[in-house]
Amino acid sequence: MAPPKASVSVAIIGGGIGGLALANRLRNTGVYVTVYERDPDDGSRAQGYQLGIQKDGFEALMKAVPDLDVDAIFDTKFGISSFTITDPELYPLLNIGIPRPEGRKQMPGTVNRVALRQALAENLRRDSKGDGRFAGILYGKKFKSFAKIDGGEKVVAYFEDASDTGPVDVLVGADGARSLIRASLFPEIEYKQLPVLNIGASVALDDLPSFRKPGSRLAAVMTPRNTASLVRAVDRIGSSILLLPWQDRATGRDSMVWAVTLAVGHSEQRMLKQANTGVEKNDLGRVLHDLCRERARDAAYAAEIQEAIACATPEQLVFTASLDSVHCHSIQLPKNLKLTPTRVVLLGDAAHATTTHAGLGANTALQDAIDLAEKIIAVGHKGDVRQLPLAMAEYHKAMFKRGAKVIGMSTGNTGMITSSGWRATVRDVFLKVVFVFVKIWRGVKSLFSGY
Ligand SMILES: Cc1cc2nc3c(=O)[nH]c(=O)nc-3n(C[C@H](O)[C@H](O)[C@H](O)COP(=O)(O)OP(=O)(O)OC[C@H]3O[C@@H](n4cnc5c(N)ncnc54)[C@H](O)[C@@H]3O)c2cc1C
Repeated sequence: MAPPKASVSVAIIGGGIGGLALANRLRNTGVYVTVYERDPDDGSRAQGYQLGIQKDGFEALMKAVPDLDVDAIFDTKFGISSFTITDPELYPLLNIGIPRPEGRKQMPGTVNRVALRQALAENLRRDSKGDGRFAGILYGKKFKSFAKIDGGEKVVAYFEDASDTGPVDVLVGADGARSLIRASLFPEIEYKQLPVLNIGASVALDDLPSFRKPGSRLAAVMTPRNTASLVRAVDRIGSSILLLPWQDRATGRDSMVWAVTLAVGHSEQRMLKQANTGVEKNDLGRVLHDLCRERARDAAYAAEIQEAIACATPEQLVFTASLDSVHCHSIQLPKNLKLTPTRVVLLGDAAHATTTHAGLGANTALQDAIDLAEKIIAVGHKGDVRQLPLAMAEYHKAMFKRGAKVIGMSTGNTGMITSSGWRATVRDVFLKVVFVFVKIWRGVKSLFSGY
């Protein structure tokens, strides 16, 4: 590619999935790009959850890092090829295939968030400051505030250690769900706690006696015919359980994640109140584990699911650091968000963090990163950096539109999987009807596939 006619400098606050993908895409494009991350280094988070990267997110990731060693970081053993919704006894209500990215026989399985973050940081680690060829990354930089300088022609960000970015053309807020940049840029955007809990853990399949037995329904639905399916079992009393096979690279053991999602009713509130009085992490873990076991029993989930839940210890539960961290959250975007030409932009969760129930947060952050990078590169090539604010407003418009869609889908799914009573009955009937159409469609397709 020809070198840009004008040099553009970009400071990215936040070295998560989105910020790092953006920096990777801007490498070798002539853009001076540096990532500023508050963590002391990229390995400072020991644990991470599994992320399902779907077709669009995967293709965006490949644009950011074309030479990414997918087999080294993705769980290729359990390539997820379908999504199944079942009743509590694991009888399918709906099963649909997952679209594959171009050029791949099947979707790779999930990827560990920490592994993906490290792989994305790998390319940036050699430099602390971007030099127009390589991108740079600086750790231990906790963002505090920003200011417009030079009559609005440049921006500078300040950190808690009294350092700053120096003047840059574009400042990117990729600082996650509780973004400080969002708070000063769009104070009207709210990030709200929802009355829904997500409680999960991972257990080794070998530790589940029923899983290896012939006739295991869990094995049949989660790992059908040497493939893998993302399974969500839904009940009629306001909860559901996600079941996901994966290979735990740290232990080398085939494992599964279970995650209970439940709407908080009176009895849960009582239990949580009790948990809140015990300040020990294990107290909270124990109460939440009891809550999951109780719910699985009350909603008559299959014995194999109850076994998987019982198999985890309270210490193995994730996100039990505080009650707030087990609650689902979502951004609420105002209907008429005012978007004006700007040099400060948002990306990923900073703009549209939402519940995990569409599995799209990281996927969308990756797409934001590619769109934003293309806009910045295009301005550099046209050679007129005065066009940047307008180009950034265009990016904001498209990004918020996509974000609103993702928020709608995710919170809609959250409502759907925590329905109870007649709503749950309508949902189950609807899913069954859709499944009949899916089966007819598959039949028709296979009839004509030989021609
Ligand atoms: C349990 C769970 C499961 C999920 N599963 C999926 C899934 O299957 N598929 C999917 O697509 N998404 C999933 N998500 C959502 C996904 O993790 C997020 O949407 C994604 O990480 C967003 O990327 P990001 O770069 O915008 O933010 P993050 O990855 O959160 O990165 C933000 C970065 O900013 C840094 N930062 C924050 N504040 C500051 C500051 N003041 N100064 C400097 N740095 C700062 C943080 O340390 C962090 O590194 C899941 C989320 C959870 C919690």
